[in-house]
Amino acid sequence: MDKALPAARALEVITPRAQHSISRQQIQPNALKVLYRLHQSGYQAYLVGGGVRDLLLGQQPKDFDITTDATPDQVRQLFNNCRLVGRRFRLAHVLFGRDRVEVATFRAHHTTANEHNAQQNEQGRLLRDNVYGTIEEDAQRRDFTINSLYYNIADFTVHDYTGGLKDLRQGVIRLIGDAESRYREDPVRMLRAVRFAAKLQMPISECTAKPIQNLAPLLLEIPAARLFEESLKLLQSGCGYATYRLLEHYHLFTPLFPSMAPTLNGPYAHQLKQMLQQALQSCDQRLATGKTVNPAFLFAALLWYPLLTQVEQQPVSDGVNRYTLFMQEASKILATQCRSLAIPRRFTIAMREIWQLQQRLPRCQTARAQKLQLHPKFRAAFDLLAFRAAIEGGPLIPLVAWWQEFQQQHPQTHTQQPRARDNDPSAKRPRTRRRRHTPHTDDPQLHRHR
Ligand code: ATP
Ligand code: MG
Repeated sequence: MDKALPAARALEVITPRAQHSISRQQIQPNALKVLYRLHQSGYQAYLVGGGVRDLLLGQQPKDFDITTDATPDQVRQLFNNCRLVGRRFRLAHVLFGRDRVEVATFRAHHTTANEHNAQQNEQGRLLRDNVYGTIEEDAQRRDFTINSLYYNIADFTVHDYTGGLKDLRQGVIRLIGDAESRYREDPVRMLRAVRFAAKLQMPISECTAKPIQNLAPLLLEIPAARLFEESLKLLQSGCGYATYRLLEHYHLFTPLFPSMAPTLNGPYAHQLKQMLQQALQSCDQRLATGKTVNPAFLFAALLWYPLLTQVEQQPVSDGVNRYTLFMQEASKILATQCRSLAIPRRFTIAMREIWQLQQRLPRCQTARAQKLQLHPKFRAAFDLLAFRAAIEGGPLIPLVAWWQEFQQQHPQTHTQQPRARDNDPSAKRPRTRRRRHTPHTDDPQLHRHR
């Protein structure tokens, strides 16, 4: 063996086209266009990451990531429809209408000579990771061996520098390099280990799994906006419940959802666990049938019992009405939660509406119910009510049945516009007493502070 070659070279395995299953037809056309343009302009161009991993596993990749020796500025010069993003990790996004292809330049290890482009904090976390290098170096900078496989557009070979092909065949998630320092560099890798283990149904290798429980608190230092994005990938990827179980096992769940911790040790612990199971499994089922899932609904469901726990911990005072107290606690729990996961405002507004509607659904007459049904968050609120009924039973069961029947009898037409009518005095009919259609279903949890 040539001793002058870097260590990574020693491991290089190149698999020719005839010996692997990736065909260009499986690659998204826009990603192919980018690969070809880079290649024809004299740059190296590889498909890497989930695209290669999933195709080799016979699965449909979520996206196709590209890597090259062209710098981000050189990539920008090749494509009109390109913008550079990211400070910590500079990337080029090539845009095709609403579709975008991510192009990353090969990264290298940090040395003191390139301090300007690389920065670590005292705990070893990478604050900037923009030192460019060779493909061999890039392979070592990636997270897991199975994510470090490269498909070369020049000759359709697959390059492996870290033993990823073997791990893919054996089905194991293995971090490249020393696990503890790789987690310290970027604690989000702990979440990614769990995400891939659940998604690919592969165990995490012993060395990769061992440090996680101790290092889980490092997640508290990660910017909340990044953790929110990660939380969606974890919980809304189609195997949310399996992922949650692993997050719990590795003590990674509480740093993401600190607002749930008091409930998991309190009187609503059982209900919260059941809600986690129901909401996440139903989310998985919806995604499996091609439906979408609204993060606001999922988060409103998951935080429902933590909200109730907080409301019930407040001393009963005559001066504050139940509704005000409830909404005050809703604001507090959202504030706590948003410190670790920056849930965007459009979702927190929707969550508050879904929670508010839990108070309005139990007290309905036909006219009010018709109006309520037109509320944009009615369906989400009803679905949460149905989860609660399945968990708690009692008076919520006939209430859900009443609403189910009501919706069948009064299918939503969207032609009714009660708000416009309300504002038009000529349209108002004199108030008449209407018979109450709802069974008497006061929700004890909501009324405790009356
Ligand atoms: P999927 O897109 O299916 O969720 P992926 O592996 O493609 O999975 P991406 O987030 O798209 O994940 O990242 C693309 C690739 O970039 C990864 O496969 C990995 O090689 C590398 N990568 C992503 N995040 C990190 C990280 N935190 N540390 C090191 N490498 C990373
Ligand atoms: Mg990807």
